[in-house]
Amino acid sequence: NLQVLLRRRPVGEPVADDFEIVETAVPSPGPGEVLVRARFLSLDPYMRGRMSDAKSYSKPVELGAVMEGMTVGEVVASNHPDFKAGDTVMGGYGWQRFCAVEAARLRKVDPAEAPLSANLGVLGMPGLTAWYGLEEIGEPKAGETVVISAASGAVGQVAGQIAKARGARVIGIAGGAAKCAFVKDELGFDACLDHRGDLDAQLDAACPEGIDVYWENVGGHVQEAVFPRFRDFGRMVMCGMIAQYNQAPGADAKGAPAGPNLGPVVRKRLRIQGFIVSDKGWQLYPQFRAEVLGLMKSKKLVWKEDVVQGLPNAPEAFIGLLKGKNFGKLVIAID
Ligand code: NDP
Repeated sequence: NLQVLLRRRPVGEPVADDFEIVETAVPSPGPGEVLVRARFLSLDPYMRGRMSDAKSYSKPVELGAVMEGMTVGEVVASNHPDFKAGDTVMGGYGWQRFCAVEAARLRKVDPAEAPLSANLGVLGMPGLTAWYGLEEIGEPKAGETVVISAASGAVGQVAGQIAKARGARVIGIAGGAAKCAFVKDELGFDACLDHRGDLDAQLDAACPEGIDVYWENVGGHVQEAVFPRFRDFGRMVMCGMIAQYNQAPGADAKGAPAGPNLGPVVRKRLRIQGFIVSDKGWQLYPQFRAEVLGLMKSKKLVWKEDVVQGLPNAPEAFIGLLKGKNFGKLVIAID
């Protein structure tokens, strides 16, 4: 079995030596367990939090343990009546090729519905995050202006297209000309602004009436530019602030990317709400999957993946994700 372990807790940006790649024996499934061979592994920003032992909504990965992550693959052997060899399954079974896992931690998926890796992105946790955050917090309405940061990424691309399907005017923000062109031309957003340029001027031009919904994926200078442009009764979906994940503990005051002045929250009656997709998102998974599959089939929703070949390349790909090197949903093709 091939596995990627957490060797050391990173301080600031993770480096290759924080991980260790090992070959171990393929496990045997215990009573009620299923042996799964993973084909694709999802790499996601939240994993930076799991590498740290700072207090969070979820426990850190132990030193020497397999890095946590969602995979999709097939059942090799099963000691549970609900699963048989050859079934396609998704679940959280880590940065490794084989895993013996409790049946309760697996979800069967129909491989005819979409390419296998899509179950980790548009039909997986990031897609569910986008859908759930709009249902619960963003609630975009026809004619409203919705701004999405990290718009070409796993969550952003789905959030923007769902908001568009609900009749909103959708403005993306992304890093660089290639990502911006993709967001506008392929995803069909009304415009996409490059945060490496003068974001204030671009926001003034794209959102002359202000912003009703801001989907926050990034924080830092992007948040600072967007925030003063909220309209009354705006909603800020606090999904993540990736620009701050590599910040060393205690560096919040000094060296933190600038943040906005939150004073106008009262005057403009804004709603700012954070959420974690696992709160109750997974309970709504069937509803989400049906709606998003429908949009995919009618070509109202397209998606882009950034597929990196080979599990040993996962650490480097993950380090790049935290610097914006990925273009689309980052997945590892295990073999
Ligand atoms: P993406 O696929 O969007 O990849 C991350 C993108 O963020 C990069 O491509 C880059 O886009 C941008 N980025 C990376 N580093 C920086 C930086 N230092 N400063 C500014 N921008 C940066 O990732 P996901 O879609 O998987 O995740 C997006 C956000 O959603 C993250 O904050 C994540 O933590 C959050 N999230 C929250 C969940 C929840 O339950 N609340 C669940 C899932 C995700 P660009 O080049 O365009 O700047």
